[in-house]
Amino acid sequence: MFSTEFEYKKAGSVSEAIQLLSDNSDAKIIAGGHSLLPLMKLRLARPSLVIDIGGIEELKGITVEKGTLRIGALTTHAEIASSSEVQSAAGILWEAAQGIGDPQVRNRGTIGGNVAHADPASDLPTVLTAMNAEFIIQRAGGITRSGSRTVSVGDFFTGAFTTALGENEILTGIEMPVLAENQHAEYAKMAHPATSFAIVGAAVVVTMDGQTCTAASIAVGGLTPIPVRAPSVEQALAGQELTEETITAAAGLVVNDLGSDILGDIFASAEYRRAMAAVELKHAVFHATGLAHG
Ligand SMILES: Cc1cc2nc3c(=O)[nH]c(=O)nc-3n(C[C@H](O)[C@H](O)[C@H](O)COP(=O)(O)OP(=O)(O)OC[C@H]3O[C@@H](n4cnc5c(N)ncnc54)[C@H](O)[C@@H]3O)c2cc1C
Repeated sequence: MFSTEFEYKKAGSVSEAIQLLSDNSDAKIIAGGHSLLPLMKLRLARPSLVIDIGGIEELKGITVEKGTLRIGALTTHAEIASSSEVQSAAGILWEAAQGIGDPQVRNRGTIGGNVAHADPASDLPTVLTAMNAEFIIQRAGGITRSGSRTVSVGDFFTGAFTTALGENEILTGIEMPVLAENQHAEYAKMAHPATSFAIVGAAVVVTMDGQTCTAASIAVGGLTPIPVRAPSVEQALAGQELTEETITAAAGLVVNDLGSDILGDIFASAEYRRAMAAVELKHAVFHATGLAHG
């Protein structure tokens, strides 16, 4: 199906894009177009104006400064997947980006578009939840800190396909703490065979003192409208020597944290996804601790 007719404007700066958004109540931002265009072709989105932010340089790039990794919203998955900075600062994100879709999706799709679209099956919301990321959102007033607000990942995703982004706001970047040497992180997913979207995904960051886990940050997604933290598992792992037995026992507790809103569809029932959460979580912790495939 073709989309309904729309006007197209290319914004040269963040402030121009925000001005265009403010002046046109049913306008939509387009970044890589990999989620917006399918929605428009299905006529689930009918913007009268599409504002292309693809040429705005200030929204691109990866920096590491003072223990913080910052990724511009317009950075593509391919750029993240091939960045040595991301590899050493947040290897979990580097690896997750490599597993997104196919080369076309990774070359066009952006981290900003991925999280703004907030598809429950996306990988990055789950990874960014475990990484305690923060989202920098720009309102009118240019790309200075004064015109922006910062939203923590726990407040950013508000429901399936909905976020804390306001009508005339643009996500400019995402920040997260650089992983310490004694922190190991992994993302494991059961991927949809056609698209690679997550049927179930689990992201873990474990802080180790020798073989003992001193803290864990764990999120699961794909099976719930927004990623959920797994405090039952985090608490069960903390203070434990991580062995096959302790990891397996802790991962099984994830069912306590999933809530009742589990997604099911023709690919995988809710019941199946619920059962697979512990499997993917265990897989991720095994990889993080070097116990996988041993
Ligand atoms: C075949 C296929 C397979 C895929 N597989 C996976 C997968 O395995 N894992 C995965 O995680 N994802 C997957 N995706 C999604 C992909 O990762 C894209 O990142 C995602 O589609 C959106 O990014 P985009 O840059 O194309 O955004 P767009 O489609 O341009 O925009 C998406 C939405 O975000 C808004 N938006 C975009 N940028 C901003 C911004 N800076 N500020 C505010 N709002 C903004 C737009 O207005 C729109 O509503 C897949 C997509 C396709 C088509």
